[in-house]
Amino acid sequence: CGIVGIVGREAVAQRLFDGLKRLEYRGYDSAGICTVQNGEFERRRAEGKLENLARELTVEPLYGDVGIAHTRWATHGAPTVDNAHPHIAGPVALVHNGIIENFKPLRDELLADGRKFLSETDSEVVAHLVAREIERGASPTDAVATVLPRLHGAFAIAFLFKDYPDQIIGARMGAPLTVGYGQGENYLGSDALALAPLTQKIAYLEEGDWAVVERDRIQIYDRANQPVTRVIVESGASS
Ligand code: GLU
Repeated sequence: CGIVGIVGREAVAQRLFDGLKRLEYRGYDSAGICTVQNGEFERRRAEGKLENLARELTVEPLYGDVGIAHTRWATHGAPTVDNAHPHIAGPVALVHNGIIENFKPLRDELLADGRKFLSETDSEVVAHLVAREIERGASPTDAVATVLPRLHGAFAIAFLFKDYPDQIIGARMGAPLTVGYGQGENYLGSDALALAPLTQKIAYLEEGDWAVVERDRIQIYDRANQPVTRVIVESGASS
């Protein structure tokens, strides 16, 4: 339901959590955060209120200066820890808002390909599709460009890559997603409010857009995979 991502210069877990707090107003049933730490994914997830996730983070803190976070409003699969986002498939982690309408045939295709699913969500198929491309040698950018046209439905997605800890890729189709411009770090968020304490400089992605967010640059592509520029606005959202 809500997405925050940070490609940062310093630890991101607390700031991701604060972003989720600011997205609470949308409603949610579970939440989670994933970072890359020493070349591995590290993830904490919890059912129910963000306080439960906060407790997980206190018991086992998350380090790493790149990460993605999510508040989930379940559409496919009960609101359990296993179904909470981020979902991980091999070298890819993702958070997803919305619904992948054609997840069933995609899941069948991936199962036939020997892939193992760990959740009942529609979202996990996307992680596997992108992971498969990367395992075949594609770059994150090429993998996402290959997979996006296969997805039907309404979604905003943020991808994190274990072996490419200097970037997050975001994509939107039918659900809002913004990119935020910082000082030596950049951001991704469901709305300006989520990013307000981090930056007021944001750009709204348009339908079908996807963006490669790195510390010192953000490259936006349209649905035809052509590089595009989107206006950067002062969000005016209060921090
Ligand atoms: N369809 C996804 C799920 O059920 C995402 C729901 C959401 O927007 O939070 O996990």
